[in-house]
Amino acid sequence: MNTILRKTMLYKTGVEYGDYTMNHVQGCSHGCKYPCYAFLQKKRFGKVASYEEWLEPYLVSNTLEILDREIPRMKSKIKSVHLCFTTDPFMYGYEEVEQMSLAAIKKLNDAGIKCTVLTKGLLPIALAGYSKNNEYGITFISLDEAYRERIEPGAAPYTERLAALKALHDQGCKTWVSVEPYPTPNLIEQNLNVILEAIAFTDRIIFGRTNYSKEISSYKQHKQFYNEQAAIVVKFCEERNIAFHIKDGTITEK
Ligand code: SF4
Repeated sequence: MNTILRKTMLYKTGVEYGDYTMNHVQGCSHGCKYPCYAFLQKKRFGKVASYEEWLEPYLVSNTLEILDREIPRMKSKIKSVHLCFTTDPFMYGYEEVEQMSLAAIKKLNDAGIKCTVLTKGLLPIALAGYSKNNEYGITFISLDEAYRERIEPGAAPYTERLAALKALHDQGCKTWVSVEPYPTPNLIEQNLNVILEAIAFTDRIIFGRTNYSKEISSYKQHKQFYNEQAAIVVKFCEERNIAFHIKDGTITEK
C-alpha cells in the first residue's frame, strides 16, 4: 500500500472522551458518507483534494520509530491512547494497517499505556492476548446491510464486525460500542431496541446524533427524535447495568 513519513504521532485530543490519540494512516477506504468529519477537515485544510483521494489510504511507515522516541518522553502524562480519530486502525481488507496497529498497541502496552480502539473493520482475535486494560470498540448504527453499503461502503459488514467484537468479549476483553452517528427515520426506518439487544453483551455504549448533515437537519422532528432515542439508550443501559455515555448535543431542549 502507499506510505508516507511523519515527524510526530501521539497528541492530546480535545475530543469528548479522549486523552491521547494516534492516527498512523492518512485517508480511509471505508469512505463513510454520514459525512466523515475527518475527511471534511482534511479537505478543508487542503490535505486531500477529493473523496476519491481520501479512499486511498497512506500508511505512516515510520510509526513505530516515532513511538520509540515519543513514548519515553510522554508516558508520564498519558492515561490512554485512542486509535484512531481520523482514520481506522483495522481498515477492512488492509493487512498492513492491521499489523501496524497491533505493533503500535503492543509497544504502548509494554510501556504500561492502555489503548482504546474504535473500528468499522474487524478486530483481530490476537488482541485477546494484549493488555486486559485495553478497550475494544466498534461503530454499530444499524443491522441493515443495504444501509451499510450506502453509508459505510468500504467498511466491514455489520454481522462480521459484531462477531469479531463478541469474540474478544468472550475472551474476557473489555468492549464498547459506538452507536454514532445514529440516523434519523428519513434515512432508515429501524428499531433502536433491536440494535441495542444485539450489543447487550458489551461493557459500554456511546450514543450520539449525526452532525454536519443536511439530510438530518431537514428531518423536522430530529431534536425530538434524538431526545427519544437517547432516553431509550439510557433506560436500556440502566436496566442491564451497562455503562453509557450520550454525546454532547444529542439531547436538546425541544
Ligand atoms: S471509518 Fe472513520 S475515518 Fe474512516 S471514513 Fe469512516 S468515519 Fe471516516
